[in-house]
Amino acid sequence: MPQVNSFDLLLFGGTGDLAMRKLLPALYFRHRDGDLPPHGRILGLAREQLGRSDFIAKVRASFASFVPAADMDEATFATFTERLDYAKVEANTPEDFNALAELMKESPAEVRVFFLSTAPDFFAPICKNLAAAGLVNANSRVVLEKPLGRDLASAQKINEDVGSVFAEPQIFRIDHYLGKEPVQNLLALRFANALLEPLWNRTWVRNVQITIAEQVGVETRGEFYDRTGALRDMVQNHLLQLLCIVAMEPPTSIHPDAVRDEKLKVLRALTPFTQADVGARTVRGQYRAGTVNGQPVPGYLEEAGIPPDTSTETYVAIRAELESWRWSGVPFYLRTGKRMAERSAEIVVNFRSVPHSIFPSNGAESAGNRLVIQLQPEESLKLFMMAKVPGDTMNLRPVGLNLDFAEQFKQRPMEAYERLLLDAIRGNLTLFMRRDELDAAWRWCEPILNGWRNAGEAPRPYSAGSWGPAASSALVGRDGASWREES
Ligand code: NAP
Repeated sequence: MPQVNSFDLLLFGGTGDLAMRKLLPALYFRHRDGDLPPHGRILGLAREQLGRSDFIAKVRASFASFVPAADMDEATFATFTERLDYAKVEANTPEDFNALAELMKESPAEVRVFFLSTAPDFFAPICKNLAAAGLVNANSRVVLEKPLGRDLASAQKINEDVGSVFAEPQIFRIDHYLGKEPVQNLLALRFANALLEPLWNRTWVRNVQITIAEQVGVETRGEFYDRTGALRDMVQNHLLQLLCIVAMEPPTSIHPDAVRDEKLKVLRALTPFTQADVGARTVRGQYRAGTVNGQPVPGYLEEAGIPPDTSTETYVAIRAELESWRWSGVPFYLRTGKRMAERSAEIVVNFRSVPHSIFPSNGAESAGNRLVIQLQPEESLKLFMMAKVPGDTMNLRPVGLNLDFAEQFKQRPMEAYERLLLDAIRGNLTLFMRRDELDAAWRWCEPILNGWRNAGEAPRPYSAGSWGPAASSALVGRDGASWREES
């Protein structure tokens, strides 16, 4: 990858929640650790009329909440602010883009990255106006935040609009779960060790469970969430991308397209849903009032901005299967929900138990071996093996061989956005979704959405603070399996 010596990062939505909470802190950390090219400007863009110093003050104020005090160094922040600037740009106003083009002429950088941290409705006008103002060239890149469509047609429209200005290798579609350290480590574990490969298939893997559980409700984003729901918000992107990393064949190299080709094959191998399958292989739920972390919380229908009769799902569980030699017959259970018992994101690979046990049974041996890749709240990788409990009886229990990254490497793990922003600046597409991946993901998800709509059934209620509707346990129970917290 060619070295980048100078860049301009143009941050549309530069005053928004994502920019203040994640993107600017991520850039600060990479600046602090000397990873950003020495000459690099970061330009916040939004409609608000702000001067440079106002923008810097806003960033500093937000860092008080989003950068831990121990990591906040005023001298470093002062050097970081030398990179910062602000311009008022309204997405639909061509004159604002002409003024931006004048500003950018002052010190042209090698690479120009446009990060669109705005609602997707603005992607098309922003791209069109950037091109019309002459701001896009061969060294430009555009980074797109989710949501990338609400169905296949709208995703294709976004891709067409953005693709009319930027070539595919210039388009960086973010899925921040792919930037997480344990996901990177799963790639290392799978493809830098010979040990796991012989076990990584239908002969030895009993099932795979991928969970993204949130404790929060819809917070202030009720209206947005009610138009979206759990499947669009979490499954179509994050859960399927994680499934790809678990299930993909070894790529021939770490080249972006070698990796993305293999992920695409996984998405295309997913067994499609028929109407009957949707009832049998999915569970959708909606939370009712309950208690989370000891605090009473309202039900979804009582949240601000939520219509009282809505049937939007806040929970989904899916039994997915892959039609491939490696994975045929192995269930991949996917689930995500709001107001769950815990905040947790994890991938669990459950291996088969031994074909014949020579030890007295205490029930624990049926668990078999399992690999747990925890993405949230902690980042860790644990391989559970059966071991003998000390004592005079042959009492067995699963014990975790713990790859504790913080302990082993004794350095602060990089946040997903830190890695992804660096990759966008450096031009490394490996962790970004290609257009055909997005299409394939929507092609698989759309029949589920249609199936739910055609069935016309209300989502199943579950109490806030639980692990979702009971039907979700039954979904995996039909295979003789159970979710990790139940086993
Ligand atoms: P937000 O807080 O509402 O911020 C929106 C930003 O866009 C603001 O800077 C706003 O500033 C600017 N904006 C609004 N209308 C504009 C226009 N007509 N022209 C130019 N700029 C305009 O939203 P957010 O939470 O940061 O989210 C941004 C995008 O990222 C959304 O699509 C969201 O779904 C996605 N996302 C967010 C998160 C998150 O954690 N927040 C996570 C993943 C994805 P002005 O009002 O001053 O123009």
